[in-house]
Amino acid sequence: MFPPLEGNGMIVPVDLGWFQEFFKLSSRRGEGFLFCHIGVKKMIETIETIRAAALARVAAAASSEELEALRVQYLGKKGELTAVLRGMGKLPPEERPRMGQLANQVREELEKALLEAKDTLARKEQAGRLRTEAIDVTLPGRPLPRGYRHPLYQALNEIKAIFTGLGFDVAEGPEVESDYYNFEALNLPKEHPARDMQDSFYITEDVLLRTHTSPVQVRVMEARRPEIPIRIIAPGKVYRRDDDATHSPIFHQVEGLLVDKRVTFGELKGTLMAFIKQMFGETVQVRFRPSYFPFTEPSAEVDMSCVMCGGSGCRVCSHTGWLEILGCGMVHPRVLSMSGYDPEEVSGFAFGLGVERVAMLKYGIDDLRLFYENDLRFLRQF
Ligand SMILES: [Zn+2]
Repeated sequence: MFPPLEGNGMIVPVDLGWFQEFFKLSSRRGEGFLFCHIGVKKMIETIETIRAAALARVAAAASSEELEALRVQYLGKKGELTAVLRGMGKLPPEERPRMGQLANQVREELEKALLEAKDTLARKEQAGRLRTEAIDVTLPGRPLPRGYRHPLYQALNEIKAIFTGLGFDVAEGPEVESDYYNFEALNLPKEHPARDMQDSFYITEDVLLRTHTSPVQVRVMEARRPEIPIRIIAPGKVYRRDDDATHSPIFHQVEGLLVDKRVTFGELKGTLMAFIKQMFGETVQVRFRPSYFPFTEPSAEVDMSCVMCGGSGCRVCSHTGWLEILGCGMVHPRVLSMSGYDPEEVSGFAFGLGVERVAMLKYGIDDLRLFYENDLRFLRQF
């Protein structure tokens, strides 16, 4: 072992660069030996100091992050122990193996301590997480509130089901429509007074929000001509500039179209009576009143006996005993020919009904606006 030598005034151990000072100063052999002993002693002390400090700090570390910081501080590329090992080359060759072994021992010891501490901490951290994130499986679940189908869509689905049962397909079309499809092709040329009944929201002079789903009929005829029969219903949203207790700027329509050879008004009546009776019950009476629509000729409005009073007269039916339910007629020959069908060869009928109107009558609702206010107290009743 080395004799206990005290520090020499010429050697100033600054960090770990002390042995560089030492070699600069040791020009003579005897001196070098002495200094060398002092150097080795100091180095052992330094390694021991590092070891003690590092182990104490590792033992006290409270988190994985702290451990990692310590690893870098002592064993990293620029770490304290690494610096000692690096300085080894400047020791006399005979001292290097011993010092190297010592430093490596300390490094291994530190690595082991770090690893163990990391394990312990990881377990602790996990246990902590398990505690704080614990789920009490004995708690009763929170029930998800059950959704309801909107009464309008309940009514619409029922309408669709009845007509598909009668052999109709469902067709759809754009809500933003051209003036041509919305009016012109339906025998409503520009300046036609009946356009006022359907004042709408215009995007440009020729593009508007559709005022009815009738454009879908034209589009289907154009796409399928000269194929027959055509049997479609066109459900969807339509838009008009109205807003009061019985009118909404947006509402839902279902239009129907049938085109075939020798279609008669009798078939129209039979189809609509079948629909109304399925929708409102077998006891409901139906009547057809002559009316006017630009796209049908002849045209009729269809009333059914009041579902509230059974026909004896009440506030809902304005004491007439009848309720207006839909409009219909035989497709106007000009509409057929504009869509590419020969009115001499084929004929057809068309009808249109408001889904809101059907739902109001079916469920006894007296204010149209209730459908759009999304008041759950209202919606949950259906
Ligand atoms: Zn009535």
